[in-house]
Amino acid sequence: MLTNDQLSQWDRENFFHPSTHLAQHARGETATRVITGGKGCHIEDRDGNKMLDAFAGLYCVNVGYGRPEIAEAIAEQAKELAYYHAYVGHGTEASITLSKMILDRAPDNMSKVYFGMSGSDANETNIKLVWYYNNIRGLPKKKKIISRWRGYHGSGLMTGSLTGLELFHKKFDLPLSQVIHTEAPYYYRREDTAMSEADFVAHCASELEALIAREGADTIAAFIGEPVLGTGGIVPPPAGYWEAIQAVLAKHDILLIADEVVTGFGRLGTMFGSDHYGLKPDLITIAKGLTSAYAPLSGSIVGEKMWKVLEQGTDENGPIGHGWTYSAHPIGAAAGVANLNLIDKLGLVENAGKTGAYLNKVMKEAVGDHAHVGEVRGEGMLCAVEFVEDRESRTFFDPAKKVGAQLSAALASKGLIARAMPQGDILGFAPPLCLTEAEADEIATKTGDVVREVL
Ligand code: PLP
Repeated sequence: MLTNDQLSQWDRENFFHPSTHLAQHARGETATRVITGGKGCHIEDRDGNKMLDAFAGLYCVNVGYGRPEIAEAIAEQAKELAYYHAYVGHGTEASITLSKMILDRAPDNMSKVYFGMSGSDANETNIKLVWYYNNIRGLPKKKKIISRWRGYHGSGLMTGSLTGLELFHKKFDLPLSQVIHTEAPYYYRREDTAMSEADFVAHCASELEALIAREGADTIAAFIGEPVLGTGGIVPPPAGYWEAIQAVLAKHDILLIADEVVTGFGRLGTMFGSDHYGLKPDLITIAKGLTSAYAPLSGSIVGEKMWKVLEQGTDENGPIGHGWTYSAHPIGAAAGVANLNLIDKLGLVENAGKTGAYLNKVMKEAVGDHAHVGEVRGEGMLCAVEFVEDRESRTFFDPAKKVGAQLSAALASKGLIARAMPQGDILGFAPPLCLTEAEADEIATKTGDVVREVL
């Protein structure tokens, strides 16, 4: 067996890690962490350290680690048929079954699923479909996409542009010109603190109206948003936000893309975030929870209205020129079928709502009154704690202090994984949906202890 030192050396010499400070890692300033196993909400590393993973990997291992039902489905599929493509009517029992299972669970107006491998490529697909749709409708100018500051939609050229976080643009010449950003529904960080939630919602809607007026509705194709902002800081929208936004979009013939990569398949205590907030999207992006990350698989769920136009487009122009080698990969599809069956069998959507509410409650009790806690917020099995230098004025800590990173490192040393979100001093919690109340208590207690020790 390789020694830890050998692995660490090979890692530094050969492995280009995503979202990593490359120079620091090459110099050995960040550790090589070799994860070897997982069971339920816990993972284990090579030294036998067991950690409660309160971020479910990257909010994706929704059914928890080590589920034999999914592992066996993957193994059986691999033995029988590891790969065949999905072009021109080809499929497997797993991929065809999964498309039906997804549609059975999706909001009413949805029609078909296009499968991909990652949330990023599914959003790239969505934007291409939106452009194709408007070309077929004879509206070739109607192409711009509105996204929100603090939104996260992936790391590709278009999806990195849609992402509204500076880190993902810096030095990459993004965003591309077809993308425009509007205000995030981030009530805690509103400029005018005198604004009520209702006034803030009206303000977000009027900002959107103003942007559309400036650019021209005839140039804008779609609006993309996560039902709850995730990577941008876990920010649930204020009451009435989606209703107000959807009213503006409908008025200007602008499509709605619900990016449900995080919220799809139960995280908010409903099957989709769209069910939770009454969204009527034209496209829904799914990934992560579709297979609980046991295999890479994503999807674009296409609504009825768009589907009719896509069919018309192929009658006029021939087959749609958009395909991935790994679209509907049999192993991913087999994992998806087993995963969705397990979510139903274990009642995980219901548990996400119930135990998620409990987690948010105990987190508020544990840290809500601390002098450096600005806000504890969440929805379903999502929770965030935002830290501030001063509670009254909501001032940020000096970024050089890296408060979020310090807190998450201190938690890791106590066997708890929470994520320092990429912008601002925010700790994010998004545990597997099978979390128990005892595990929620452990998350809140350890967070409380660490916050008091570090701040
Ligand atoms: N959309 C949302 C809302 C996400 O949170 C993510 C990833 O975190 C993505 C898209 C991109 O997914 P992937 O990393 O699988 O490309």
